[in-house]
Amino acid sequence: MINNKIAFSRSGILVKHSEKVIALDPEENVKADITFVSHAHMDHLLKREKNTVLASRETVDLAVERGVKIPRFIEQYEDIKLVDSGHILGSRAIVIGKNEIMYTGDFSQRDRGFLKKLEPFNVKVLIVESTYGKKGYSFPPTASVIESVMKMISEAYDAGMGVSLHGYTLGKAQLIEYLFQTWRPLIVHKNIEKMNSVYRKFGIKIPVPDKIVERSSELPETPFVYVAPTYEDVENVYYSIRFTGWARVISRYAVPLSDHADHDELLNFIKKVNPETVITVHGFDRELAKELRSLGFRAFAFSDQQLDLDSFIYV
Ligand SMILES: [Zn+2]
Repeated sequence: MINNKIAFSRSGILVKHSEKVIALDPEENVKADITFVSHAHMDHLLKREKNTVLASRETVDLAVERGVKIPRFIEQYEDIKLVDSGHILGSRAIVIGKNEIMYTGDFSQRDRGFLKKLEPFNVKVLIVESTYGKKGYSFPPTASVIESVMKMISEAYDAGMGVSLHGYTLGKAQLIEYLFQTWRPLIVHKNIEKMNSVYRKFGIKIPVPDKIVERSSELPETPFVYVAPTYEDVENVYYSIRFTGWARVISRYAVPLSDHADHDELLNFIKKVNPETVITVHGFDRELAKELRSLGFRAFAFSDQQLDLDSFIYV
């Protein structure tokens, strides 16, 4: 087996494998042979990628649509493979060597609409995102969330008014539109429709909206479903519902529909992967690593590491 080494730097985690350095979702340009980009959310993209980018074609197309420059990109490399992580279109986890290291990037443990969950399998070292890695962050079943929102939309239509459904322009908005497409007229914000067109190019059946708007003043006075960006304030609607994992319960204003694994799903996933070492990154990484240690895992959090580019450690 090839010895792998890992380094923790200010810009993120680097892996040295077969003398090649792979940067995992770095936050700034860093000296490496390859930069792995797990998906096209802006916190995982640089304005201009200097290294060769390893990513799915969907991620690259979405990134380019968002104004990112990627001069060189590859979809595969030697004994490295990318697997679907179920977070958004094109999102991938990376598996380095023969099941030696897996980095999940943002990932989901639920099938939702056209998205499929990341399937766990055994690896030696697991680098796992821990956005909701704290006890208490458990999302209700997706079916009950959908049912509640359906009821709210129906109330609005009975009252002769519209609803706005809010989510991230990329990822969440497409899922919302897919799940609630039976309601008409379906109105979509221009920036969301821009991302929709990339989804359709890859065969995802995102419905064509009845109307595309730039601002909410263009909305009709009769009932409608408006798929809107997170930040937009929409007035004169019966409900304005935000879809986010940070909402712990279903309410009139926010519903817990996340594209990340919740706390319990993270634990189950890690148990199934059964790695020798776990490194937690993002969000509640300290809390999750601590809980994993109490369960007998060798686990540590990215936030607890000395950030030093030159010190690669063997794993
Ligand atoms: Zn993301």
